[in-house]
Amino acid sequence: MNDAGMVIAALQRCKTVLISVHISPDGDALGSQLALMMALEKMGKTVTVQNLDPVPEIYRYLPQANRIKIGHLVPGSYDAAVVLDADPTRTGLFDKPAPADVLINIDHHVTNASLWPYTWLDPDASATGEMIYNLIQQLGVLFDREIALCLYTAIFTDTGSFRYSNTSPESMRISAALLEAGADPWLVTENVYESFAFRRIKLLGSVLSGMERSGDGRIAWVVVTDELYRQTGTTAEDTDNFVNFVRSVKGVEVAILFRQIGAMEYKISLRSKGRVDLSTLAQSLGGGGHKNAAGGKMQGSLREVTEKVVSAVEKTVSAQCGGRSLILNGRSS
Ligand code: 5GP
Repeated sequence: MNDAGMVIAALQRCKTVLISVHISPDGDALGSQLALMMALEKMGKTVTVQNLDPVPEIYRYLPQANRIKIGHLVPGSYDAAVVLDADPTRTGLFDKPAPADVLINIDHHVTNASLWPYTWLDPDASATGEMIYNLIQQLGVLFDREIALCLYTAIFTDTGSFRYSNTSPESMRISAALLEAGADPWLVTENVYESFAFRRIKLLGSVLSGMERSGDGRIAWVVVTDELYRQTGTTAEDTDNFVNFVRSVKGVEVAILFRQIGAMEYKISLRSKGRVDLSTLAQSLGGGGHKNAAGGKMQGSLREVTEKVVSAVEKTVSAQCGGRSLILNGRSS
């Protein structure tokens, strides 16, 4: 039996299931989580959904999003714990062993370390939502409008609205089936991309006005500090997708967002236009992700962190695209 088959058989046997996703959950994580919850409930199972971080405002339209419990402590015990869209470690929940007999991990990230016994990885899937679509189909559950909306959100957001290179004939076929099952595409677009808080756009303006780039223009980066959050009344949630504006600059191969998460700690988001593979670089920085979208965290002052990361990216760009950028004394603008 293959990994998918083992996961399906394990889920069929379980009666009580806990489903969790990664910290700072995105559309793929939340859409997959809620779709799987609803499908398992249709099969008569008792499902609990819990994450470390709250559901960002833009994803609160997802059906039953208010059922997601938030917090670090996971009370109770379950037949199965399922982690979606990341390593179990990235949930921030299971520093103690997960309170379940069967441990299932379903993910499409190539850097997943396969820590749990029932791990089903498919790096060719455009989104974890695509895997959950196949899983639900094989469980024999019909796609209603709510499940379809969740899975459409998962695939739509993780493919960058069907623009990124992970967009495939399969992701398009599945999305078409989800639209046929009743997913409303404008509902997703309006909530995720057309309902930004005023403060978020003000923050975007400040962040982009501080954009810097390497001498050859192949690397560009922006920084979001606690001070900027304070000035604009924003939070980390408001920085979603900022790094894509940086990547959109002509000539940029790799874009970086440095987001302050502690007095001396920064979250790093990396985006490539496709010629530079970022997954190994992100792993070397203690993080992970995909070829074109990866990330991690680093401790240090802003200056130390930006210099270290920009220099590591510079080496990767030179190794993979040839030539040298002229970072030397830091920046050109
Ligand atoms: P983002 O920049 O949007 O936070 O993340 C981009 C991609 O990299 C996502 O697929 C995310 O799962 C992955 N990623 C970001 N940060 C980390 C990290 O610290 N560890 C791992 N393993 N993956 C990460």
